[in-house]
Amino acid sequence: MSQSPATQIVNEMIVVPQGDTFSLVRRLDAPVWLFDIDNAEIVCANSAACKLWKAVDEDDLRARNLGADMSDTVKNRLKQHQSDFISDAARFHEMWTFYPNGEPSNVMVILSGFTLEDGRMAMLCEAIGVTDEQPENIRSAEALLYTDVMIALFSTLGPALYMNPAARNTLGSGQRDLSALFINSADYYAMVSRLDSAGEDRQVVEVMTPAGRRWYDVTAKTCTDAVTGQAAVLVTAIDVSELKNARDRARFLADRDQLTGCFNRSALQSIYIERQKKMRPENCAVIYCDIDRFKQINDQYGHEVGDTVLKQFAARARHNLRTNDVIARLGGDEFVIMLTNINSDDEIAQRAQQLRAAIALPIMHDSTRISVEVSMGISIFDLQDLSFSKAMRQSDVALYTSKQRGRDRITFYTDEMGEAATMRDMIENDLKIALKEDSFELHYQPRVDVQTGTVVSAEGLVRWNHPRLGTVMPDQFIPICEETGMIEELGRLVLKIGCAQAIAWHEAGLDIEVSLNLSPRQFADDSLLPLLSDLSSTPGFPHGRIELEITESMLTGDQDLIAEKLQLIDKMGFRIALDDFGTGYSNLSHISRFPLKCIKIDRSFIARLPDSGPIVSLILTLAREVEATVVAEGVETAEHLAWLTKNGCEQIQGYYMSKPMPLKKFPSAVAKIHKNHRK
Ligand code: C2E
Ligand code: MG
Ligand code: MG
Repeated sequence: MSQSPATQIVNEMIVVPQGDTFSLVRRLDAPVWLFDIDNAEIVCANSAACKLWKAVDEDDLRARNLGADMSDTVKNRLKQHQSDFISDAARFHEMWTFYPNGEPSNVMVILSGFTLEDGRMAMLCEAIGVTDEQPENIRSAEALLYTDVMIALFSTLGPALYMNPAARNTLGSGQRDLSALFINSADYYAMVSRLDSAGEDRQVVEVMTPAGRRWYDVTAKTCTDAVTGQAAVLVTAIDVSELKNARDRARFLADRDQLTGCFNRSALQSIYIERQKKMRPENCAVIYCDIDRFKQINDQYGHEVGDTVLKQFAARARHNLRTNDVIARLGGDEFVIMLTNINSDDEIAQRAQQLRAAIALPIMHDSTRISVEVSMGISIFDLQDLSFSKAMRQSDVALYTSKQRGRDRITFYTDEMGEAATMRDMIENDLKIALKEDSFELHYQPRVDVQTGTVVSAEGLVRWNHPRLGTVMPDQFIPICEETGMIEELGRLVLKIGCAQAIAWHEAGLDIEVSLNLSPRQFADDSLLPLLSDLSSTPGFPHGRIELEITESMLTGDQDLIAEKLQLIDKMGFRIALDDFGTGYSNLSHISRFPLKCIKIDRSFIARLPDSGPIVSLILTLAREVEATVVAEGVETAEHLAWLTKNGCEQIQGYYMSKPMPLKKFPSAVAKIHKNHRK
């Protein structure tokens, strides 16, 4: 482009004193004026410029405050020009619109830098003519100047061919190429690759601007430079930092557990599914962790300490994870850790051990030292083979097994565990229905007096009549009832059936007591005493003829409270029996505190007679000491009976006399026992 006469003169006059320059400017025919960007005023203008600005004379023009109604966009653009003049001695062609008579008039202006005497950079403006451009062109040129959207044209893989003021503002001036836009070079290469394949690309990327790192929504399209005909890339970009930060924050809040900063369940699921979408086989481990007895920590030390434990747990776990590992808190004290790219099961075992060792260290809260133990369940699988819910389920099943086995350990999932868990779930569901439908009955096992050979009592043992499985034994469902709390309802049912039966036998003149089992949870529950009180006030209640069997484990805890509870039950007219005696850890000397009327020796000791003779003798002596009746459970042979008779055991129960019987068959079982004794 040929240089205008005014610019040539001005360029040559850079060394000429400012006053001389001004007088030269005034002699030029083309409209020329010098604009002080900082003060938004014209410092010098020739008469052609005054005419263009519709000013009476130069003084009139210089007196005008041009900043008064200047928009921020224009101010920013002029500031940008100023910095470009300083750094690059830049020159721009811009279309300006003047409104001399209220009518717009479009003028092409050449802008260049001019250093004032005080050292500040001003702008020398030279109008090179009124344009007769199409309105459309004029408007689009204006829009390019005013918009905050960055618009730039780059030669392919080369420097910028054009940058609008917003682009220069964002990228800084200078011959920057397209790659300079991206902080992360991977974003640039992704763009180049999509431009190659599809001719266009759009992504939100981080851009280094003079104002620091910002996020831009960048669109790029391949095109042809209208001036040179060469391949070029048109880039438009909008600053979306505020929006992105707000979105990121919202996502962070939605994805994270607020207390520990770990992911939550739904975020973990999304991450899992995202990784699965990569369709690459990948060995993966899901570790389900649960802090042992966390409820106790909360109850004993308070929730603040509980929170500290959870935060510490998360921090320690995170410290031991690798970049692609993920930790999530599912709620309460349950955490899930997902490890990917596992080489071998041994590696997992090793890492899980390390994790547990790092996590299960005492935690200090102020001066309180809290010991932390962790149970873990691990499932290892190929990411492509298992859905998220199945992976979670497997590790949860393994965790459950860890807890069943005594907590504070790691268990790896096996298919057998899975089958058992499915069975357990099925039973749990069916139990809920069974409790509503009254599908339970008691079988009765006779208890026989050794001396007289008569049936003195019957233990009521619950059976579940399952629609498909037939008769289900208590070992298969009582533990589930205990875990889920259904035991309360089942226990109530058993007590009602058993008491009603005791009343019925008593009223029929049969001298048979009834013995019923209490489960630990049922015994601990506050609803037990009111229930027993109700039952004891039922008309015909046979005072002292119904026995409640408890086990040694139920005697641990606050001894005074337990003694008080047992005294109350005793006063209501129930006898208390200690079942499965010898298998627990109860302190023998404490037993005398409790109103125990009967001690049942666990069948494991009877099965090992005569070898276990010394222990059985000891229990017999102890029972005499506390004046309780002794019952030997699990008497299966004549030899068992002979030993027990010889050693003074009072009562026996076992298959040798009779198995537990449905109510209908009970009378004939009793008759058979009596007949056998007479023989
Ligand atoms: P338990 O209270 O010790 O009951 C005795 C168990 O030993 C019964 O098993 C009985 O069938 C079995 N048994 C009796 N004599 C012999 C024998 O000579 N040899 C062998 N091998 N076993 C014998 P069952 O009916 O399967 O009950 C198992 C356990 O389930 C009971 O042990 C009791 O702890 C619990 N249970 C049963 N019914 C109830 C109930 O209504 N409530 C609660 N909470 N628990 C119950
Ligand atoms: Mg029992
Ligand atoms: Mg027993």
